[in-house]
Amino acid sequence: MRRAPLREVCVYAGSNHGTDPRWAEAARALGQLLADSGISMVYGGGAVGLMGVLADAALDHGGQVTGVITRDLFEREVGHLGLTELLVVGSMHERKLAMADRAQAFIALPGGAGTLEELFEVFTWTQLGIHAKPVAVLDVAGFYQPLLAFLDRLVDDGFLRSGHRAQLLSSGDPVDLLAQINRWEPVEIEKWLDFEDR
Ligand code: AMP
Repeated sequence: MRRAPLREVCVYAGSNHGTDPRWAEAARALGQLLADSGISMVYGGGAVGLMGVLADAALDHGGQVTGVITRDLFEREVGHLGLTELLVVGSMHERKLAMADRAQAFIALPGGAGTLEELFEVFTWTQLGIHAKPVAVLDVAGFYQPLLAFLDRLVDDGFLRSGHRAQLLSSGDPVDLLAQINRWEPVEIEKWLDFEDR
């Protein structure tokens, strides 16, 4: 499967700010970087937490931002009314599919269970060959270290192939992460199936 050129990145982020101000700083830096790089962004459409910080930063720097939100969440997560485009969909599944279809790459900022759920869905889709798109975590202040260590344990315990583990990109620096995304090449699905790279 060949990868498509990078025009739009899907970013997952917490609907809360979290306790460390460095996470909002990173959300701001990533939003600005995407805008300055001429890369459009799609995200969950909320105005709250890191999601809102990220969207505002991209918009403030002239970026194109699309939000995808469900009717139910529009009020709870305060749908962002200043976006380039806001798509209101009927279900969480539609929301995730719309975001995943549009984007050629995925980045997770710090966040909670929702962020992790979205991250793991697109990570497993790369594993299954449903898409050939890079998936990355912005590991701000070591936020994702425990998760990455757990994935290493899954490799040791024989539940995750090391080649697939290596497909999850990570960096604490947005510029470095974007460079890794640009360099990323998909691994042929047959490689996963023979279990030899464990
Ligand atoms: P959180 O990381 O829990 O603050 O959530 C971040 C975003 O993920 C919010 O916009 C949530 O509505 C969204 N979210 C939570 N669970 C799901 C899900 N199962 N599918 C799609 N989005 C979700």
